[in-house]
Amino acid sequence: MRAQPKASHYINGRYVEDERGAAIDVLYPATGELIARVHSATENIVALAVEAARAAQPAWARLKPVERGRILRRAADLIRDRNEDLARLETLNTGKALQETLVADAPSAADALEFLGGAVAGFGGDQVDLGQSFGYTRREALGVCVGIGAWNYPIQIAGWKSAPALAMGNAMVFKPSELTPLSALKLAEIFTEAGLPDGLFNVVQGLGAVGAALVAHPSVAKVSLTGSVDTGRKVQALAGGHMKQATMELGGKSPLIVFNDADVENAVGGAMLGNFYSTGQVCSNGTRVFVQKGIHDRFLDRLTERTKAIRLGNPLDPETHLGPLISRAQHDRVMHYIEIGRNEGATLHLGGDAPRLQGFEDGFYVSPTIFTGVRDDMRIAREEIFGPVMSILAFEEEDEVVTRANDTPFGLAAGVFTRDLARGHRVIAALSAGTCWINAYNLTPVELPFGGVKQSGIGRENALAALSHYSQLKSVYVEMGDVESPY
Ligand code: NAD
Repeated sequence: MRAQPKASHYINGRYVEDERGAAIDVLYPATGELIARVHSATENIVALAVEAARAAQPAWARLKPVERGRILRRAADLIRDRNEDLARLETLNTGKALQETLVADAPSAADALEFLGGAVAGFGGDQVDLGQSFGYTRREALGVCVGIGAWNYPIQIAGWKSAPALAMGNAMVFKPSELTPLSALKLAEIFTEAGLPDGLFNVVQGLGAVGAALVAHPSVAKVSLTGSVDTGRKVQALAGGHMKQATMELGGKSPLIVFNDADVENAVGGAMLGNFYSTGQVCSNGTRVFVQKGIHDRFLDRLTERTKAIRLGNPLDPETHLGPLISRAQHDRVMHYIEIGRNEGATLHLGGDAPRLQGFEDGFYVSPTIFTGVRDDMRIAREEIFGPVMSILAFEEEDEVVTRANDTPFGLAAGVFTRDLARGHRVIAALSAGTCWINAYNLTPVELPFGGVKQSGIGRENALAALSHYSQLKSVYVEMGDVESPY
C-alpha cells in the first residue's frame, strides 16, 4: 500500500493506533488501487484526542499572539518546502490532477497559516470611553474546537480550519473525510516539527458517527464543518442542542452570469474554471451558467472548442488537466444526474460519458459535460451535482437574470462577467451569495472571507472574520472613580 501512514490517528504529538476501530480502505480514484488502510476512531481514541486538546489549550492561549503566529508561519514554510510530496499524496488520495494540487491545495493551507499567523497579533478587542469609567473587550479563545472536513480539498480544509483556531489560542481535533484521511496526518507532523506544543492539533479518523461524537463531547466548545447541506443540518442541530458554536461551509448551486458585453474568452475561461476544476468537485462552482442571448452562440462555440481540448487522464502526469471523481459512488451519482438531465429535456451538448481510459479502466472518470437549453425548474439546475456538469441557461434582461439566479435555497457564491463595471457591482449587490466575483471565478485568496448565505452556510472562513468565529468576547468595565450605590 503505497501511501500507508504510520498509524491512523495523530494525538498529543504522536501517531496512535487502535485496530479495534472499523477498517477504512483508502483508494486511488484513478485506478481503484488500495493505497492505505486506516481504522475508525473508537470511543477511547475520541476521548484521548479531546483530552489532549483540553489539557494543552490553556498554556497555548496564554502565549502572546505573536508567539503563536511565529509557529504557524514556520508550519507554512514547511508546507511550502514539502509542497511537491504533499501534492502527490493529495493527488493519490483524491485523484485530482497534480497540476492542480501543486498550486491550489497545500499552498492555500500555507497561505492561511501565514496570513492568520501574522494578522492575529493585531487582532484584539475594542475600548470605549464611559466618562468616569471605561470599558474594553478581550477576544478570548473558545477552548477545544472540532474541525470536520470534506474530501474535495482535504489539506486545504484542514489548514483553513486549524489556522484561525490555533492563531486565536484554541486547540483543534480534526476529523478528515473518511475518503481522504491521509494529508491531515502530514499536516499534524508538520505542526509538531514547527514547534506546536503537543495536543494542540490532533487528527482522528472515522465516518459521520465519529464527527458526531466529537461535536457532542462535553469538553468541545465549537465545530466547523465543511460538507453537504444534509450533514450541516445534523451537525448544526447537534451543536445547538449542546449550545455550542458552529461554522457551516456547505453546498451550493451558484450562478455565473455572462452579459452580452463580456470578454468572451475570459467568460469562457471563468465558466470552465467554475465547472471543471477538480473535476467539478468544488462547493462554490458556478454550475448555472446564465448567458445573455446576444453572446450565447459565440460563448458556446468557444466553450465547446476549449472544453474539447481538456485532457482527461493520469492525474500524476503534469500534462493532465482532469482526473477522476473521488469514488465509485460519486461517479455513479454524477452519471445519474446526466441521465436525469437528458430525461428532463435538456440538450446534452458535449460529454456525458464515462470514458474507460487505457491503464485507468477502473478509474472513476466522467468527461466534462455541457447541457444547453436548461430550464430553471430542471433538477440539474436546482440540485448540487458535484461533478463536471455545466448547465447553460439563456436570459434576456438584467432584472430577469437576478431574479432567476436568486431562485435557489443555496447562496454560496456568484459571478458576473461584464465590461460595464457599474452593472457588475449592481448585479453582485443584488445576488444572495456570500462569496462573489466580477470578471473572475473561484479565486479564493485567504485575505477575503469565504462562506455562504441561506442553506449554504453560517459563518466565514479566512480573513479576520475567521478569527472572530474562533473567539469570544469578554467585556470588562473599569471604574476610575467611586462606586455609586443606592444602598
Ligand atoms: P458530507 O456531508 O458527506 O461529509 C462531510 C464530513 O462530515 C465528512 O467528514 C463526514 O464524515 C462528516 N459527517 C457526516 N455525517 C456526519 C454527522 N452526522 N455528524 C458529524 N459529521 C458527519 O460531504 P462530502 O461528500 O464529504 O463533501 C461534499 C459536500 O461538501 C458538497 O455538498 C460540497 O458542496 C460541500 N463542500 C462545501 C465547501 C464549502 O466551503 N462551502 C467546501 C467543500 C465541500
